[in-house]
Amino acid sequence: MAATVAGTLPPSTDGVLAIPALARERRLVHGFSTVALGSMRAGPAASSPLTPSRKALAAALDLQTEGLAVLGAVHGARVERVDEAAGRVEGCDGLVTDRSAVPLFATFADCYPVLLFDPGRPALALVHAGWRGAAAGVAAEAVATLVREYGSRPADMEAGLGPGICARCYEVGEEVASHFPPECLQPSPGGRFLLDIRAHLRGQLSEAGLLAGHIHDLPICTRETPELPSHRRSPDGSRFACLAALR
Ligand SMILES: [Zn+2]
Repeated sequence: MAATVAGTLPPSTDGVLAIPALARERRLVHGFSTVALGSMRAGPAASSPLTPSRKALAAALDLQTEGLAVLGAVHGARVERVDEAAGRVEGCDGLVTDRSAVPLFATFADCYPVLLFDPGRPALALVHAGWRGAAAGVAAEAVATLVREYGSRPADMEAGLGPGICARCYEVGEEVASHFPPECLQPSPGGRFLLDIRAHLRGQLSEAGLLAGHIHDLPICTRETPELPSHRRSPDGSRFACLAALR
């Protein structure tokens, strides 16, 4: 597994990060915003999901946003298929599409972005995975949804885990730890537990049939990286975003 990098970002001229292995995919566009583009939290009007910061991210990726689908995120395991401009899709933590006109968008601040890409169809999934969603199996559910909706095969899929809070920084109590297998947990100095969500998500994708060499990382810890919003470091409501689309 790739070691998590603290406080060091790969070079970026436009305030957008990418997972190198997925950036090489010809039919996929994706990026993660940094604070250089501002917070990606929703504006006051839920009916207008496009804030200036979000428009700047779309522009940096050269993506049209008329067809945007925005993940509502409720910390569950429900995944929805979107075929057309959807605005904000409530009540789910994963979106799948096979339409290039439907970019997928979600926001994060320590929770993990998970991208799934089937280059054959092609088809795309974007997942929001905090501890509740990870424990509920949201990444595996996204794999299953691609299989069910598009006939994708897990062994063909490429996955990308974006920035998120690392195991050194994510201390949890017994009530959270009890949802995870022992291999994702270490005792913390404070007598609690350090939870490795990234390792758990990798394991979940492997169990769902993805090949180890197809699970890629941007191993950056949000809490230790000032260029990314982190709820644990600064619970001010700031968010970074993942925007991804087929082309
Ligand atoms: Zn960390």
